[in-house]
Amino acid sequence: MIDYKEFAKAELNRVISIQDRFKEEFDIDSYAHWFYDDESSILRLYNDEIDEIFFRYIPIGTYSLNKNTWMWSWFNNYLSEKNKIETLQIKQFGEKNQYEKLTNGTFPSDEFDGWEFLAISQNLLNGIGVYKINCDNLNYYVLLTEKVDSENNLEVRKLKQKTVDCGNHGFKRPAFVCQHLELNSQNGFEEAFETFKGMDLDEDDDFAAWCDECEKKRIECDGWNDVSEAFAKIKLICEDCYFEMKESNQHKS
Ligand SMILES: [Zn+2]
Ligand SMILES: [Zn+2]
Repeated sequence: MIDYKEFAKAELNRVISIQDRFKEEFDIDSYAHWFYDDESSILRLYNDEIDEIFFRYIPIGTYSLNKNTWMWSWFNNYLSEKNKIETLQIKQFGEKNQYEKLTNGTFPSDEFDGWEFLAISQNLLNGIGVYKINCDNLNYYVLLTEKVDSENNLEVRKLKQKTVDCGNHGFKRPAFVCQHLELNSQNGFEEAFETFKGMDLDEDDDFAAWCDECEKKRIECDGWNDVSEAFAKIKLICEDCYFEMKESNQHKS
């Protein structure tokens, strides 16, 4: 049995030509920006609205620049991508071959380890290419598994609607509520239309809700006008905050 070092080195060498072809085919280096959506496991690379490309990805693991540690996605409770469980195949492969680095959930590491792990996953999980997403203190190593056709794709449309970062939930779709609605208030929850978490929205629709007092004002004013709107003082929040507010504010029947 070859030892891990040799194995990883060979895997890395094998992937270099695959990665070169991948980068050339999709002109990967031409995109200046990235956005990843953990709900759909889709990565968007883009320059502007027209110049963009989408890939399905599997999050392989993260490297913490603060702690200098690697963490496999199967071990990481903070990651919400459903397909992260596919990385268990890497762990199983590691167990079979007694490669410790593939079986420990987290350990001291360097940025180089991540590339070897990506190379190993490319073969085990059938990737078309690999990508490193550089966040502030964390690097995400992801395996790209297919190009996503963005035309008339609901997941892609939804992803592009995620423009609001409340600081707690990552990028989510915008939602609007009156000034009286707070996370733990109990002021009622009147909605512009019936909603449920994760639902698709039409191009022109936004999540919108207001409290009982605002509803009274709205009826008094015969709808939304300057007066009722001044009373409501609508604020922008993210969709996850919206559904958390809905939970506490709506009257239980
Ligand atoms: Zn209100
Ligand atoms: Zn939020």
